[in-house]
Amino acid sequence: MNNTLCIDSQDISFESGQSIMQAACAAGVFIPHLCFHPDISPHGSCRLCMVQVDGRLLPACTTPAMAGQKIENNTDSLNAQRRLVTQMLFVEGDHICPGCEKTGNCQLQAVAYFLGLLEPGLPQMYPTRNIDASHADVLLDFNRCILCELCVRASREMDGKNVFAIGGRGQHAHIVINATSGRLKDSALSIEDRAVDVCPVGALMKKHQAYQKPIGQRFYDQNPIDQKGDANSHQRGEKT
Ligand code: SF4
Repeated sequence: MNNTLCIDSQDISFESGQSIMQAACAAGVFIPHLCFHPDISPHGSCRLCMVQVDGRLLPACTTPAMAGQKIENNTDSLNAQRRLVTQMLFVEGDHICPGCEKTGNCQLQAVAYFLGLLEPGLPQMYPTRNIDASHADVLLDFNRCILCELCVRASREMDGKNVFAIGGRGQHAHIVINATSGRLKDSALSIEDRAVDVCPVGALMKKHQAYQKPIGQRFYDQNPIDQKGDANSHQRGEKT
């Protein structure tokens, strides 16, 4: 069978077993996403990658690519929904970009720019959650966590450790650290873990490395997020 599908009038080939997101990334077609990472099992929770597949609204990261699919991605209506999701993420946490170490390397910020968001558009909630700075090399700022669960999946699948989990429900959902004390310093986390690198925002950060690269010269300052189709290249270490 001819393994070809169509995204926004562009025919792309895919390999059997790929999701729509994987096929799009391989073809250099950008579908906005935050909880997807090419090296980690998909989760489908951030809802940014929702696309119209033959008229049905489906997450691109968990929907298998199938021959003949007609997919709408970069449309006004889908981007309006993505803007609203992104705005909600911004105001729900501490994502004040000028005050964040991650600025320029932050996927949330880069997606916001792609969607044309230059202001929150909703009332800020100004959370006052904890910061776990107990680990010698890694810091976790709960105020910036968007609950994408990439660190949870990376720790389990790539590091073989299960350092992180999600606790609570709804607005009380939060990252939980697998240690009796609940603190990073007592967990099995190491600075070499992939879980530390995959955070798309400024929640999980390496210490002692702040501002080594000046703002304006960082990954997304140089590479607009839609340029490579795959938005996660900086999380794999392809930093400029
Ligand atoms: S700490 Fe980062 S990677 Fe982990 S769930 Fe929060 S935003 Fe995602």
